[in-house]
Amino acid sequence: MSESELDRRHKERTRKHKEVVDAKIAKATIDKGLLLVLTGNGKGKSSSAFGMVARTLGYGRKAAIFQFIKGAKLVGERAFFDAHPDVRWEKCGEGFTWDTQDRQADIANARAGWEKAKEALADPDVHLVVLDELTYPVNYGYLSLDDIMPAIAARPPMQHVVITGRAAHERIVEAADTVSAIRDVKHAFRSGVRAQEGIDW
Ligand code: ATP
Ligand code: MG
Repeated sequence: MSESELDRRHKERTRKHKEVVDAKIAKATIDKGLLLVLTGNGKGKSSSAFGMVARTLGYGRKAAIFQFIKGAKLVGERAFFDAHPDVRWEKCGEGFTWDTQDRQADIANARAGWEKAKEALADPDVHLVVLDELTYPVNYGYLSLDDIMPAIAARPPMQHVVITGRAAHERIVEAADTVSAIRDVKHAFRSGVRAQEGIDW
């Protein structure tokens, strides 16, 4: 087949594809605050949530981040975002449970963090609420979905919420508008590479 015939066919195919895409875009007319869930065993859940924080701030809007379970160690995103006037950053845990080895302290931290998160979930000025690693205190039974789901449902209508963490509970998945389960195809850690600054923390 000649180059010009290939070009003609390509143009025809992409024109048809564009028509289909444009028709789908034209049908999506709703604006609303979303509940997004980033789950699965692969790397990229929290960093995706922080990407949405950057997007939010780029439009001069406010974001609130609640870091459950982790929090003792400084992570690069906290160093960056905590200094931002439009960010509220709360650490709601003193490290991994296997670091603290103190179940009662973990429970108290998670519950205190959730009380603060509820304030953000009631504040229409906060455009994006990140509940980072929320799945763990839920799955350990430290926080109750009977408290969490109604507070999320009653939030201001244009407020977005992102929940991250492995093994998101079925009730969270069901309530969500967008759910991504990130698959662990490979991770450098298993080849003996330790966590790298700027990439892993
Ligand atoms: P990130 O914060 O990099 O987006 P994440 O939120 O998807 O990662 P977490 O389970 O919260 O994943 O773990 C955070 C830390 O653990 C990061 O340092 C990350 O690189 C590392 N990590 C994530 N997934 C894996 C994995 N499958 N194997 C080993 N380490 C991982
Ligand atoms: Mg994470």
